Amino acid sequence: MIQYKSTRGSQNMKNGAQAIIKGIAEDKGLYVPDTFPKLQAAIEDLLDCDYRQVAAAVLPQFLTDYTEEELAHCINSAYDAKFEAEEVVPVVKANNAWFIELYHGKTAAFKDMALSILPYLLTTAMKKEKEESKIVILTATSGDTGKAALEGFADVPNTEIIVFFPDAGVSQVQKQQMVTQEGANTHVFGITGNFDDAQTGVKKIFGNAEYAEVLAKMGCKLSSANSINIGRLVPQVAYYVWSYVQLVKQGALKAGEPMNVVVPTGNFGNILAAYYAKQMGIPVNKFICASNENKVLTDFINTGIYDISGREFHVTNSPSMDILISSNLERLLFHLSGNDGDEVKKLMESLDKNKKYEVSDKIKEGLKEFYGGFADETETKEAIGKLYKENNYLMDTHTAVAYKVYQDYRTQTGDETPTVIASTASAYKFAEAVCDAVGLPKFRNGFDAISALNAFTGVKVPKGLQNLETKKVLHTGVVDKEQLWDAVKGSLE
Ligand SMILES: *Cc1c(COP(=O)(O)O)cnc(C)c1O
Repeated sequence: MIQYKSTRGSQNMKNGAQAIIKGIAEDKGLYVPDTFPKLQAAIEDLLDCDYRQVAAAVLPQFLTDYTEEELAHCINSAYDAKFEAEEVVPVVKANNAWFIELYHGKTAAFKDMALSILPYLLTTAMKKEKEESKIVILTATSGDTGKAALEGFADVPNTEIIVFFPDAGVSQVQKQQMVTQEGANTHVFGITGNFDDAQTGVKKIFGNAEYAEVLAKMGCKLSSANSINIGRLVPQVAYYVWSYVQLVKQGALKAGEPMNVVVPTGNFGNILAAYYAKQMGIPVNKFICASNENKVLTDFINTGIYDISGREFHVTNSPSMDILISSNLERLLFHLSGNDGDEVKKLMESLDKNKKYEVSDKIKEGLKEFYGGFADETETKEAIGKLYKENNYLMDTHTAVAYKVYQDYRTQTGDETPTVIASTASAYKFAEAVCDAVGLPKFRNGFDAISALNAFTGVKVPKGLQNLETKKVLHTGVVDKEQLWDAVKGSLE
C-alpha cells in the first residue's frame, strides 16, 4: 500500500485519491510516495505490450488505492485515438539519440501525456472519496500546461478550470490555443508578469485559509493540474518504462543494461518522473538536465546552491522552460535527503526569504546522478538546423535544448550509453523559431510560419494546430499579477 506524505514534514498521510484531490499539502509541501514501488513485470514480458499495457504495469503500483478496473478505465480513456501516433509514444532514432516523442496528443506538447489522464484520475478519486464539492482546478502555465489542462477538463462535470498564463511570455500559437478554448467551465486569463509570478500567485491562493473558506461557502475546493499534483507525475513515469522497453525491443540495449535520459527541464516534473522510473527498477546511468538561458538548475546541479537572487528572467525561444522557481525539485531534495521533511522545509523557507539555499553534503552526493547543462537561443536554433539538414529529423526548440546539452555531455564525458531524449513538443508549436533555424525567412506571425514549415518539410501539422488562426477568441481577460484571487472569485460567482 503506497501512501503519500508531504515533503515538508507533516505526518498527515494520504492515499493516492486524496493526494490527487488535494493537489498540494496543508503545509505547502508536495505529496511524495512514502516508499517507491517496484515494477512487478519483467522487461521481457513488456516487449509485446502496447502503450496502454505498459501504463497498466506502472500506474497501479503507485495508486494502490484504485482498483485495477478503475485504472484500466482511466488509461484506456486517456490513451486512445486522440493521440495521432498509433504507438501513442513513438521512440525514434536520429543521429546518436533516441527521441521519445511525447507530443502526439491533442495540444501537441508532452503535457498531454499526463493531462489527458488526470481528469479521469481525479473524477474517479472524487467518487472513491465521496467528494461532494465542486473541484476548481487552478493552473499556472508557461504555455503548454494551460492548454493541455483546458482540453482535459473542458466540460468535465463538477469541475471548473481556471488558467493563468504570462500575457507577454507565451508563443502566439500557445496563446491562441488557450484563448479559443471552448467549454462552459473554462476560464483563461493573461497576467501582467512572468511564469514565476503566475505560479507564485497560484500557490499563494492554495495556501490561504481565508480563501479556502470563501470557496467552501460556494461549494468549491481547489486542486491543481500543475506538476505539483502527484496525479500528473505518476502517468509520466510510464513513458520512461515504455521507452526503456522500446530500446530493448529495438536491440539498442539488453534488459538490465542502463540508458541515459535527457530532459529539457522547467519545473523539474518530467525529469523527476524519470528518476521515479529508476526507483521502480529501470536502469538509468545519468539524468541529463537541460536548461535554456534560465539556467538556475544547471548551476544548482554543479554547485549544490540554488540561487535566484539577482538572476534575470530571460524570455527565450523555448518559453515553456522559462522558469526560475522549479517546483518539483523540492521532491528530489526530499528523496535525496533521506526523507527529511524538516530539512526541506528549511531550504524552501530560505528560498522564500533569501532567494537562495545550499543543500547538505548528503544531497550533493545524490546529485551526482545528474548532469546539468544549458543551451542559449542561438545554439538551440543551430541544433535544429543541423539535425534537420543532416538527419532529416525535425525538433522543436525545447527538444533542441536537450539535444544540444546531450552533445556537450557526450563530448565532455565520452559516455556512449544509449540515450533517450524527451521530445516535448511539436516543432509547429514554436514554428517561428524553427523556420528561422532551418533557413526559412523570419516570420513574425506564427500561423504563416506553420504553413511555411509544412510546405518546406512535409511534416504533418498536428490536428490541434490546423485552422487555429480562424477560431473564435472566447477569453480576453488580462489581470494584474497581484489580483489573481479576484479573477478566481469572479470566475466562480
Ligand atoms: C512543460 C514543458 C517543458 C518542461 O517540463 P517540466 O516538467 O516543467 O520540467 C519542456 N518542454 C515543453 C515543450 C514543455 O511544455
